[in-house]
Amino acid sequence: MTDISKIEAVLDEVASGRFSGLRYADGRVSLVLNVSGLDVRDRGQIEIAVKGKLLALDGVDKADVVMTAEKIERRLIAVGSGKGGVGKSTLSTNLAIAMSAMGRKVGMVDADIYGPSQPRLLNCEGQRPEAEGKQLIPVPNEFGVPVLSMGHLAKPGQAIAWRGPMAGKALEQLIDAHWGETEELIVDMPPGTGDVQLSMMQNHKPVGAIIVSTPQDLALMDAVRAVDLFEQAKIPIIGMVENMAGYACPHCGEVSDPFGAGGAEAAAKTMGMAFLGRIPLDMEIRKSSDGGTPPAISDNGQGKAFHDIAKSVATWLDNQKPAA
Ligand code: ADP
Repeated sequence: MTDISKIEAVLDEVASGRFSGLRYADGRVSLVLNVSGLDVRDRGQIEIAVKGKLLALDGVDKADVVMTAEKIERRLIAVGSGKGGVGKSTLSTNLAIAMSAMGRKVGMVDADIYGPSQPRLLNCEGQRPEAEGKQLIPVPNEFGVPVLSMGHLAKPGQAIAWRGPMAGKALEQLIDAHWGETEELIVDMPPGTGDVQLSMMQNHKPVGAIIVSTPQDLALMDAVRAVDLFEQAKIPIIGMVENMAGYACPHCGEVSDPFGAGGAEAAAKTMGMAFLGRIPLDMEIRKSSDGGTPPAISDNGQGKAFHDIAKSVATWLDNQKPAA
């Protein structure tokens, strides 16, 4: 026969400091096992070890183990734009890499389900996420920014032409994935202001949103609609980024302004929101992004503007009250 002290001694061997709520009656042991900080494989191993040891004891014929993990308060940061092609994905990638370089635990959800580009930008195209039960496991990459994208689920080149409700469901799967230790999720939103965007925000309440716009008036008018959408969903706006602002000459590096300068900054001011920074239209940014070496891997040269924006975003996040 066994008693509770023998059971405790056995648990100390295999799960020291991780068990609580221990009960033993009529040959049945039950306990709660805290598996915080362990990855999927280690969780499985500790559960097998605990059950194996308990069931080997004389007088124990059933072991109920309830596994719990401290819930990490994960914050979502939405990156949106009124229309496509303004550099929303480029900013999302480089922001995530720059924030990760600051020691933050950042992941990426490519919610741009109709034109997913994060697998290419984060250089992990063609990989398939594994699953644990019904949850997807984000795809790791050399930049330390785990990512989930519809681009990982669809076949390369396959058009993703889903109707709203299906697109919304796909997005849920990407967000409710097994994000582990990730604390901040950058969400590269689909362009525009439709139902998918609104329901994602209502269901997941990002802590804040960043609006990307080019200096052209039309894009700015679209940006105003994106701002409206976030305001409707009561998502605070962290600020606006002006992309493709001025043209950096590939020969001499001088920046000129074919579309005019300062439009986004002025628009941000009028709308009473912070201006987070300006990124020039620079061939190197496109080349290095498309080549799987995003500029923010360095905090110099083309990477500097992204790192500066990342600092402002990090400061904003750190000034928020923790979620109740
Ligand atoms: P969106 O996500 O808004 O559709 P992308 O980030 O995919 O836009 O950018 C569209 C194209 O513009 C990409 O080929 C990208 O490399 C390029 N691009 C984005 N920002 C810049 C920039 N500042 N300078 C040069 N090319 C850029």
